[in-house]
Amino acid sequence: MSDPGAVEPGPAGARPGADHHGHHDHGAHDHGAHDHGDHGPHHPRPASEVELRAHALEALLVAKGLVTTDAVDAVISYYEHDVGPQNGAKVVARAWLDPAYRQRLLSDGTAAIAEFGYGGAEGDNMVVVANTPRVHNAVVCTLCSCYPWPVLGLPPAWYKSLPYRARMVAEPRVVLREFGLELPAEVEIRVWDSSAEVRYLVLPMRPPGTEGWSQERLAGIVTRDCMIGTAVPSADAAPSADAAP
Ligand code: FE
Repeated sequence: MSDPGAVEPGPAGARPGADHHGHHDHGAHDHGAHDHGDHGPHHPRPASEVELRAHALEALLVAKGLVTTDAVDAVISYYEHDVGPQNGAKVVARAWLDPAYRQRLLSDGTAAIAEFGYGGAEGDNMVVVANTPRVHNAVVCTLCSCYPWPVLGLPPAWYKSLPYRARMVAEPRVVLREFGLELPAEVEIRVWDSSAEVRYLVLPMRPPGTEGWSQERLAGIVTRDCMIGTAVPSADAAPSADAAP
């Protein structure tokens, strides 16, 4: 596209994609709770191949007595209710208030995030990328849906959608505009391709109008989308909309 600085020539092209897939077939358990508030047990669309595969795998493991459906449900509930963007928001708010923490966060994201007790599966190699007045960062997983679970919970449906994954690298400025984020032309957009090996988190800029705010209050305006990079925080932030590209 006409945006030469848009696509980060990072690990996406460099790594062999071989072990990228199959590391987390969480698709089957996305019951929509993070998507459009639809908490029903049914899917609004036909199950995808990977969902069917995950369902079959789960059924087999249960049939063999290797896991119980209760255990599976507990894991899903944990990531849907106990882990979520509120974790990442605390990390961001602290980085805004504590320059030393910000430094640690940017130099070793995994360790700095672990100071909050967050880490483990789907987040054991975290890289935090900071927005500046000249650079805006955004995160995608072009091959599937890699996402930093310990700090953001489960990914929204649009993050896993083919259009987002394809278009975010091809025309990020257009996609961000569709999310309602209009960036000045002089701001470079860097798109980071998450993988099984590395999960990215965007550290947004602290917005004006938040001077003197407590860490807790600051965390309240750091939405999931701000940490994916499809939005920026605002002092009068409304809850993030689940606009699909
Ligand atoms: Fe992925």
